[in-house]
Parts: sequence; structure tokens; C-alpha cells
Amino acid sequence: MKKIIAANWKNNGSKKFVKDFFDYFLDNVDTKNEIIFFPPDLYIDQVNNYRNKEIFSLGGQNLNTNPFFKTTVTGANSCDMFLDNNCSHILIGHSEVRAQYNDTLIFSEQLKHVNGKLKVIFCIGEEELDRENNSTSEKLSELLDTLVKNFKITHIPVFVAYEPVWAIGSGKTPTLEDISYIHRFIKNKILEKLPSLKEKDIMVLYGGSVNLKNAKDILNTPYVDGVLIGGASLDVKEFTNICNLKI
Ligand code: PEP
Repeated sequence: MKKIIAANWKNNGSKKFVKDFFDYFLDNVDTKNEIIFFPPDLYIDQVNNYRNKEIFSLGGQNLNTNPFFKTTVTGANSCDMFLDNNCSHILIGHSEVRAQYNDTLIFSEQLKHVNGKLKVIFCIGEEELDRENNSTSEKLSELLDTLVKNFKITHIPVFVAYEPVWAIGSGKTPTLEDISYIHRFIKNKILEKLPSLKEKDIMVLYGGSVNLKNAKDILNTPYVDGVLIGGASLDVKEFTNICNLKI
């Protein structure tokens, strides 16, 4: 079955890294899975130059951090700039961005600004403390509210990345049973709040310490539509092998 494999490069890479990566990747990738790269903004254009084979899509990692889009903002990128660079996707609400700004207003404004022009991958995840207090579902529902309240018909399919904060970059992952349970919970919660949607309109990706050893099992887990990969997406051989997995 076709799955989404997304690479979040965060603030890693260089022009040489991008060249070496795609020289290898394009020669070795062989998949029907849907691949999306989220390079740092400064390398989106360079990555875009490797897109002639239409093997992958491109996305931005962070739209803007200022809620007042009507004014011009130093250091910001607009939705149209990402579109101009052939991006089709945008990450919104990544926990590393939330940790810096911790303001749902920002994510609401970002969703409004995108207005269906880019496919949003909305990231949510509980902290270690939420897990210890058995309040994972409450936390996820609260974070999902921002997405649901700003939902527009043009956002179909709705993409959510479930990324437990304690699993990101830690080498720890939830059990497959927990991943499945939570993905189902997310889908049901969205369906409950947006009853006009169907289950197929909601795609939930798992993110947090995915690597070649655990990717196949995670991708085969019920209710998992794909993965969002940080660290392991920087190792071109490992990432290519993950993309090539037959699920
Ligand atoms: C991420 O930050 O989106 C992520 C999933 O990171 P990692 O795979 O390194 O845990």
C-alpha cells in the first residue's frame, strides 16, 4: 500500500550535502510511496532543481512566526514564496517551533494565511509529563482544536503528524499498539468535530525516532498513513532504504 514518507531536515545541510544526497537518492530510489522533503528554506530552491523526475514533493518547514501577516515582517516567508519555489506542503505546529513561541494564535494565523494553497501537515504531540499524567488524549484534543477551528473545505485531505515530543530525536518510540490507538483517536476526534469528512480524508503520519529498523513495522501499523522523519532522513542510504520499503 502507498504510504507517505516525509523528511524533515530541520536546520541541517549545506549545498554540498544537498548535491551529494540527491546524486545518490535519485540513482537509488525505487518506490511508489509518496516522498516529501522539507529542507531548510535556503536550500528549497536547490532541492527543487532535482525535481525533474517528479519522484518527490517539496515543502516548507515553517511559514511565519508573526501572527500579524497583514504587516510586512522582517525574517518571514509568505505562502506565495513557498508556492513560487514549487512547494506543495507546509509543516505547521512542529513541537520545536511550539517550544519557541508556544502560542496557538500563531498556528491559527498560519492556517488562515495558507488558506488551502499549501497542504498543511499539522504536527501535534504530547510531552513526557502528559504521558506520565495519562493526559495524552486531552493534550492532543486541545492541540487539534486549532486545526479543526481553522478547517476549510480546501484542506482535504487533512494531514496530521502525531509526534510525541518525548520521542523526537530520543531513540524512544511508543509501542505499535499505542501508535495505532492514538492515530485512531486522532482520526475519530477530527471526524467527530468535522462530521462532513470521511475517514479517507484524514491522513495521520507518525513522527519520532523513525529509522530503518522500525519504519516497516510502524508503516504496517493500522491507522498509520505515513511517517515524518528527522534524524534518519539525513542519512541518504538509510532514508532511501526507508522510501524503498514495500508495505
Ligand atoms: C521531527 O523532528 O519531526 C522528527 C520526527 O525527528 P526524529 O525523527 O529525529 O525523531
